[in-house]
Amino acid sequence: MPDLDLWMDSTRKREFSLISHAHSDHTARHNRPVLTRETANLLGDYLKKSDPILLTYHEPYETTSYTMTLYPAGHCLGSAQALVVSKETGERLLYTGDIKSRRSPVNEPLEAVHCDTLVIESTYGRPEYVFPPEEQVLETAYNTLRMWLSQGYRPVIKGWRLGKSQELLHHLLGEGFDVMVEKSIYLGTQIYLESGVKFPGQVNLFEGIWPEGWILMFPPGKRREALKEFRGKRTLEMTGWATSGSMPWGRSADASLPYSDHPDFNELVEYVQAVSPNHVYTVNGFPELSGRLRELGYPAVHLNTKSQRQDSGFQMKLV
Ligand SMILES: [Zn+2]
Repeated sequence: MPDLDLWMDSTRKREFSLISHAHSDHTARHNRPVLTRETANLLGDYLKKSDPILLTYHEPYETTSYTMTLYPAGHCLGSAQALVVSKETGERLLYTGDIKSRRSPVNEPLEAVHCDTLVIESTYGRPEYVFPPEEQVLETAYNTLRMWLSQGYRPVIKGWRLGKSQELLHHLLGEGFDVMVEKSIYLGTQIYLESGVKFPGQVNLFEGIWPEGWILMFPPGKRREALKEFRGKRTLEMTGWATSGSMPWGRSADASLPYSDHPDFNELVEYVQAVSPNHVYTVNGFPELSGRLRELGYPAVHLNTKSQRQDSGFQMKLV
């Protein structure tokens, strides 16, 4: 928002920018990042040269021209939406960052924040992306894992260091599975523990020994090389992309189940209805969401990165 000299999730270094959460496609080493303490803890040394402004949820940050307040986004530990209220006009702009509207055992639940202008992610902003109930998907995952274990296979669950991995870990430990996690997932999980999140079982670090009967959680990129000595692996992938036949990239898993740390298409529409904005901009995903929103009577525009220079960002105005 150039009028306010305010960046949201810039992926290039800025003097002053919001970091909504600790996923790398939302971060850069800004001089003065605004973020939650949990996000700062998850980023650790990454921000060692920064002078961060740490906010708790609902704590207003005041400047001469606007007030910014962070609200839970439900997407991962520390994830925040930002409400920016103009002191000149009273206009309320809500930037969601990444959200998850389904309840998670490890995240603060998403809070719907009323606003005039909404900037919302549209990762699964296409009608074909509708996820089944999470309990049903998890039940299928448990059955698949038990079957593999009973057949003597070694189950690997693909998981990145932060977010979905800790959710799935919590669910699996709650079901009584023995789970080991790769180091980056382990370190992320330690921050959850330090922040007061409780897990219903022991969180174990994988250090090269893989006892029979244990499930291993591992990031997709490092998996092949690091685990090549182990025979009889079966890989489970939990991703929202599994709902569609037209996946945007190829997959390499023995089973893929639809589970996401983002809302599905219907949940995105429901969230817009819940915050009842006058204007909507959709970002970071498919343009079909803004099409549906226009049908429902919301002035909605999709901001497309493709036609823009990589560093130009999206320029928003407080009306
Ligand atoms: Zn994210």
